Amino acid sequence: MDYAMQMTVEDVSKRILSKQIDKQDAMRLFQSLDKESQLQLLAIVRRADGITPAHNGKGAARPLRALDQRDLTDEHRAWIAALVEKYDSFVPKSKANVLEHQVHFVDQRRAFHLIKDLKKLHFQITYTKADGAHVHDADGNRYIDISGDMGVNLFGHRAPFLIDAVKRSLDQGIPLVGYSDMIFQACKLFCEITGHERALFTQSGTEAVMFAVRIARAATGRKKIVLFDGSYHGLSDAVAATRDLAGNSFPLAPGILQEFADQIIVLDYGDMASLDTIERLAGEIATVLVEPVQSRHPYKKPVEFLKALRQLTIEKNIPLIFDEMITGFRVCHRGAQGLFGIQADMATYGKIPGGGLPTGVIAGAAKYMDLVDGGTWRFDDDSMPSSKRTGMAGTHSQNPLKIAAALAVLGEIKKRSAETGPDGTCACFQQGLNRKTTDLADALNAFFREERLPVVIDTFGSLFRFRFVDSYWGVTEALFFILLRMEGVETNIQGNCFLTTAHTDEDIEAVIAGVKASMSNLKRSGFFREPDQEPTQDTAQLPQTAALAPPQSSNASPRNEMERLRALLAADLALAEDQGA
Ligand code: PLP
Repeated sequence: MDYAMQMTVEDVSKRILSKQIDKQDAMRLFQSLDKESQLQLLAIVRRADGITPAHNGKGAARPLRALDQRDLTDEHRAWIAALVEKYDSFVPKSKANVLEHQVHFVDQRRAFHLIKDLKKLHFQITYTKADGAHVHDADGNRYIDISGDMGVNLFGHRAPFLIDAVKRSLDQGIPLVGYSDMIFQACKLFCEITGHERALFTQSGTEAVMFAVRIARAATGRKKIVLFDGSYHGLSDAVAATRDLAGNSFPLAPGILQEFADQIIVLDYGDMASLDTIERLAGEIATVLVEPVQSRHPYKKPVEFLKALRQLTIEKNIPLIFDEMITGFRVCHRGAQGLFGIQADMATYGKIPGGGLPTGVIAGAAKYMDLVDGGTWRFDDDSMPSSKRTGMAGTHSQNPLKIAAALAVLGEIKKRSAETGPDGTCACFQQGLNRKTTDLADALNAFFREERLPVVIDTFGSLFRFRFVDSYWGVTEALFFILLRMEGVETNIQGNCFLTTAHTDEDIEAVIAGVKASMSNLKRSGFFREPDQEPTQDTAQLPQTAALAPPQSSNASPRNEMERLRALLAADLALAEDQGA
């Protein structure tokens, strides 16, 4: 079946206007259309938003642009210097700690997103404690924490039910070799909540993905792994690849072998043409690994694509793995699979079910999970392991402390998810939290539009992200997170933000106020420019801020006709977004 051919102009325009895809994807689809269809598409996009061509490129409604290093003037630098002074007295101990301890203490985040002009503001905060929706730092500051502990935190810090369970387990000692009653209950409950047949615990999310891929390879005897552009699956060599502009896979970081990347096929996410590739290469593909809604791009929710992918992988007997590390238990008690009505063959989890202790989980159909332990057999007959087995172990995979935490979290999720609405519909607590997150995003997106700020908050469940439209980690974006911290709101430089059940309405109001104050400050201080204003320096002078930038293809010519069309479409899309399409 030619999936790409199924996309009509209407399909493409619908996807653009409903924001199922981002601009890059929109451009790719746009370019795949013939000239006539491209013109039709532009007309549809304009019509849908009441945009006439006269508005393109000019006009008061056009969003401003966030600054990057090219745009900095002496005034900006003086403003940054004054901010550094204030920040130094706001978090002096955190800064001193980083400086003093870097000799022995290694942490890759220290250099992540580092911008030379903001070097003096770039360091992690030292925390002293965390409670409910708040974290406290070594300088006595208290912040509303929207970092969500990288997606781990669903119930707030030090949730009493969790603390009690871990303390009880600690009192029993930490024996590692035999089983505990808790591990049996935890796996049973895990399967009950997620709808999978069997489950095992691993030491981390990375390990869960690594082992799930191994199971798939053992089951199929095939080598290649398909994953999608924009996803993240941890740092196992088996999945740590991305692709260049020509579509060739290459390792995510130095030290990872090209030979590993050669086994990985990176395809466009949400693009039906990717299904054609999977169909064509089916005989070589051990698994398709998918982050159903990518935490880095939560605006992409390609449900129809996922359904078609599920159908195709069933037809071709390719195990489909959903990586629900962030979406699992967060967006719904059955994760993205529950929300979208799609059951994967295996799914990988971590974060939330660890309750703050390190864990990962693989859950899936017995057909695949049996490759770990041989399946089930009896003691009173001739039965023996019925399945071949692959290698899998981990000293702390079943560590009782974290299993106690997992059991407590799963119990709490089950208890709260059992609540149903008056008409028998699911009224699990995640829905209320998701709604609060959407309300927060709606309030701030309205503010961004009013202020012409080129920022959008995207959400999926209680995950949300600030997306600076048309810019990737420029000076303005980096400064925003510093100012937000000084307003008493703590985020994660990686960008994922989360609400938890511990956030009160007052906390959320305070977050909204903090964001507005920080953005207004930046706007007042000239860190957004008019879209037509040229940067003050040449783009070529820009230092590389992305740690892992893909190599540039030699035929990427910026000034051709397509680029002008791209600019036109991008302007239309920005307006469409601006108007809440
Ligand atoms: N998969 C996804 C989707 C993730 O977001 C992450 C971590 O953020 C991982 C895998 C890796 O999990 P861990 O950091 O526990 O190894």
